[in-house]
Amino acid sequence: MQAIARRSVFVVPLAVLSLMASAESGAVPAAAPAPNREAVSVRLPSEAFSAMETISPEHIRWHVRFLAHDLLEGRGTGQRGGDIAAEYIATQFAEYGLKPAGDNGSYLQKVPLVGVTTLPDTQFALFPKQGPSMDLKPLDDYVAYDQTQQPQSDVDADIVYVGYGIEAPEYNWDDYKGMDVRGKVLLMLVNEPPSDDPKFFKGKALTYYGRWTYKYEEAARKGAVGVILIHREDMASYPWEVVRNSNSGEKSFLKLEGPALKVASWVQFDVAKKLVAGSGADLDKLITDASSRDFHPVTLGAKLRTHMVSKVRNFESNNVLAILPGSNRNLKDQAVMYTAHYDHLGIRPNMPGDNIYNGAADNATGCGILLELARAYSAAKEHPGRSIIFAAVTAEEQGLLGSEYLGKHPPIPAGKIALDLNYDDVRPLGAAEEVEVSGAERTTFYPWVQATAKEFRLAIRPDARPEAGHFYRSDHFSMARVGIPSFSINEGMKFKGHDEAWGLAQDKEYTEKHYHQPSDEYHPEMDFTGDSAMARFGFALGWEAASFSKLVGWQKGDEFEAARAKSQ
Ligand SMILES: [Zn+2]
Repeated sequence: MQAIARRSVFVVPLAVLSLMASAESGAVPAAAPAPNREAVSVRLPSEAFSAMETISPEHIRWHVRFLAHDLLEGRGTGQRGGDIAAEYIATQFAEYGLKPAGDNGSYLQKVPLVGVTTLPDTQFALFPKQGPSMDLKPLDDYVAYDQTQQPQSDVDADIVYVGYGIEAPEYNWDDYKGMDVRGKVLLMLVNEPPSDDPKFFKGKALTYYGRWTYKYEEAARKGAVGVILIHREDMASYPWEVVRNSNSGEKSFLKLEGPALKVASWVQFDVAKKLVAGSGADLDKLITDASSRDFHPVTLGAKLRTHMVSKVRNFESNNVLAILPGSNRNLKDQAVMYTAHYDHLGIRPNMPGDNIYNGAADNATGCGILLELARAYSAAKEHPGRSIIFAAVTAEEQGLLGSEYLGKHPPIPAGKIALDLNYDDVRPLGAAEEVEVSGAERTTFYPWVQATAKEFRLAIRPDARPEAGHFYRSDHFSMARVGIPSFSINEGMKFKGHDEAWGLAQDKEYTEKHYHQPSDEYHPEMDFTGDSAMARFGFALGWEAASFSKLVGWQKGDEFEAARAKSQ
């Protein structure tokens, strides 16, 4: 999972848990939380059920043991260890007899990447309508990247304040009001208009419109040359340090395929306040104005002048793709997809001590599950009607880049992919009694997810902090963006033989001591029972989605409904 992306450690009481205790049956084998066999086998054909039952915690362990080995040097994107991991996964796919779904009949899909570092020669100055120019200090006052991936570029443009910078027809919201912003620099707020109404930008929950990535993309689509995001801690939900840290050093992008900003930047709140004051306006009032549907863009009579100087480095990595052809003549050109990222943070040769980011939990576990699913599907004596795509994606830690590329270049058109199920950081903590499927409730598939969870005796744990927008920070989101109904499957906090507090404590310790650190390593005492349960659960869901007569869709009014319609 990406940084600032950890599942939260906040407690949500779950009434459902008490139901689970009563569901426990005497016939449950000690090793795994057994599904209600009868119920599941009614839903799945017997060949599928038998194949599902071969999914084993020990198989997943073997993959994690290898992928998290020091010899793989943390599976860095564009590094040798990452390439070895890709080759290992491709070899497994071949062994299972799966068809290659990458470039030119291979299992590998090349993902062209560009690393951009903003260099100290960069100049960034604001010219308020009145008063002296403001020569800003990098990292302290502002951060900026040139998304056009050029070594040098210049901007000298008028600044227009566009409120939240959102155009969302499904909420009858348009901050641009048709204004021509080509060649302009747009000053805007992060997050989205505040509301408790679940029908308006999902109430307190963050939608994609609230994320800064959307704001950059929308501005570029409209022809703007730059964006200045205003950082106010409560609106961003993180301090300036986070902006500063994630905007210094090299940043990776997919090689340019569409419009991009010459200046994608953030400034400190006080900087923006001063700039706006130079136009005789008050920033606090402008922020209030922006929460109204009647808001219109405000031309500030101010200018941004930048000279961006960047180091641009081209490199590449690969997604690993395989396909199991469907058995139904009419459905086989459609698919269900499974995804898991195989990359992690690599090796830091100059760091003293242990400098290998093994990424055992994040995300050798997801790869182990993906491979075990691939093996089980291949071994089934009968195959589902739709084809099944298995995708181990790269560059997740760089900003979901491998999956973004896959979403734009899928082996089967996005509009024909019924569902994507993603696995990211499924910790080996024992027999899981809960499952997290945040986002599933947004799809038409949710009734089946609920029924299947019940049959597997897994309580669905709701997202504890929807306002943090975790849905937008793992690879399934790249698929949602191109319209594919998608979500991640993970364990909750309740494990067999432990109370919820134990699960929460494990989560907290992992977040503080091991998440994105060299100590996220494989240990033989790890228990992959829960990983196996998540794989079986996902197997049953995927098989069902691959067999329905109709494709899964998004619920009416969902923010991804339009993308789905466009793709079909
Ligand atoms: Zn991660």
